[in-house]
Amino acid sequence: MADNSIPSFKAADLVIQLSSTPKTKPEVASFGTVFTDHMLTIEWSATEGWQAPLIKPFGNMSLHPACSSLHYGVQLFEGLKAYRGDDNRLRLFRPMLNMNRMSKSARRACLPTFDHSELLECIRRLVEIDQDWVPHSDSAGLYIRPTFISTEPSLGVKKPGHALLYVILCQAGSYFNNEAEALSLWADPKYTRAWEGGTGDCKMGGNYGCSLLAQYEAVDYGCQQVLWLYGEDHQITEAGTMNIFLHWINEIGEEELATPPLDGIILPGVTRQSILELTRKWDEFQVTERYLTMSQLCSALKQQRVREMFGSGTACMICPIGHIVYQGENLHIPCQDKNTQLTSRIAKELTDIQYGRIHSDWTFLV
Ligand SMILES: *Cc1c(COP(=O)(O)O)cnc(C)c1O
Repeated sequence: MADNSIPSFKAADLVIQLSSTPKTKPEVASFGTVFTDHMLTIEWSATEGWQAPLIKPFGNMSLHPACSSLHYGVQLFEGLKAYRGDDNRLRLFRPMLNMNRMSKSARRACLPTFDHSELLECIRRLVEIDQDWVPHSDSAGLYIRPTFISTEPSLGVKKPGHALLYVILCQAGSYFNNEAEALSLWADPKYTRAWEGGTGDCKMGGNYGCSLLAQYEAVDYGCQQVLWLYGEDHQITEAGTMNIFLHWINEIGEEELATPPLDGIILPGVTRQSILELTRKWDEFQVTERYLTMSQLCSALKQQRVREMFGSGTACMICPIGHIVYQGENLHIPCQDKNTQLTSRIAKELTDIQYGRIHSDWTFLV
């Protein structure tokens, strides 16, 4: 919904400047290094409001050195993918959830709001223009990175009067691989990703830049990612930049799929929400948003009540967790065999939707 006080930009006003020098598409490139031929930019100022959206050749931007996104992190981003279906049609997965989340982050960052469907239509046009970049593969996609930054050209710590919303695209392989080794996580309560009243539930850049040191410490300890804990009772919150799920027999003997609740310190993932909705529809076991602590996990492991644990997010979709290093112990997390594994079953259902093998109102045709 558009904020009534600020009229939104309109996709109907889109100005398109096509590139005259299209790039050759790489065979393989490491994630986020090679971008498509075009980008979408939309400028805003407090005095003029939103300008007409513009699709133009991908290129560097010019920013005032004082601009407050660079100094104070007044900025945010989103992440979603376009998938090329078996029918060769391009689909986005629940993109309105990303638009909603983006405008929530914008409100938190004191950046202006906009009409969600107008932005989605501009993104649709951008993907359509660069459609040849969407891989012909059912294990890869085109990653879409909407970004919203303050371009306020002054050092005052204040609400921005100038801002730039832009969208860039790059190819992305799927990290999900049935044969892939399960993730190893390093859990040390000395680092905190997010806290109550903070911005951990928004995709604001500062949350990620400040996680790097912990990430490299995890690697030093032989792990791939950080398991973020919270509070005195070492609550399990997220793994790296993924939401986390535990499939287990809970304290009262019920089979349960559990993930921490959205209490302000959890990023409300689209994949998380989709897994909850999907498994609730199956109606085969309890699906719960609840607190999970390391001591609950440890005693469940001792009593062999843990079936599997996995992370979820657009990048990897679903990633099984194999080990957690915690307080000097290497906790082994079981994985069910491939045929009974929840991870594989959820991954299959979600990819079947994303690649258009089954019809779903979760997909949005480009
Ligand atoms: C983006 C993100 C997720 C996953 O969200 P999706 O919408 O499923 O991609 C989870 N945790 C964090 C911290 C994130 O930034």
